[in-house]
Amino acid sequence: MTLSITILGCGSSSGVPTVGNNWGKCNPKNKKNYRLRSSILVEHKNTVILVDATPDLRQQLINAKVKKIDGVLITHSHADHIHGVDDFRFLNVVMNKYINLYTNTETLEQIKKKFGYIFDKLHPNANGFFYKPCLSPFIIEGKFNINELSIEPFDQDHGFGKTLGFRINNFAYSSDVVELSEEAFKKLNNLDLWIVDCLRVRPHKTHAHLEKTLKWIDRVKPKKAVITHMNNETDYDEISKLLPNNCFAAYDGMKIKI
Ligand SMILES: [Zn+2]
Ligand SMILES: [Zn+2]
Repeated sequence: MTLSITILGCGSSSGVPTVGNNWGKCNPKNKKNYRLRSSILVEHKNTVILVDATPDLRQQLINAKVKKIDGVLITHSHADHIHGVDDFRFLNVVMNKYINLYTNTETLEQIKKKFGYIFDKLHPNANGFFYKPCLSPFIIEGKFNINELSIEPFDQDHGFGKTLGFRINNFAYSSDVVELSEEAFKKLNNLDLWIVDCLRVRPHKTHAHLEKTLKWIDRVKPKKAVITHMNNETDYDEISKLLPNNCFAAYDGMKIKI
């Protein structure tokens, strides 16, 4: 099974640069420091899975030339992971159908609270006109399938809340995480690729920092690790110098085949 993973964005909640054109410690001349909010696309044959709906979703779908998805997985309800939901409307138009959304009860409740209009019934006179995003929600309770792909969720500690990590075959995605339980580590054995949170070098209350992420990578021992969700303190070239052989910093548009 060959999976293709595309980094649609690898930035923190603010993206890089932040509003005000603040590049922090990042070199503005390096295109790899220009980061949209964190999201990925996972593809296998004709199956396309999106993880998260960032406020940059429109730009990300255009950049990756996405014309359809078979499902969107939502890790948690922070603004940088769901506030792009309105852009699904235009994907509905292109696909001419509803989009399946997979998340846990807590996150779905938050999406319903923040974007209640999405779940209103289409007006009977709409006649297939998608004047709002149309999503069919599915609650994740354990392993589930999207077409031929089996997806294994696991809980992650995000400081003041929880997030979902996802394993698909020998690939796992762990965005927005500050601690991992023993149960989560069990889901992370034998990985070909692990994409994992690493906000910056200094510790943070809700995100892993470099030392912690590298400790995890040393324990999990994936064949390849890619760090993501980086903020403007994290310059691509500078952080790359601090990474071991099998570990790389993400950049928007990065494609990895496993
Ligand atoms: Zn985030
Ligand atoms: Zn978050």
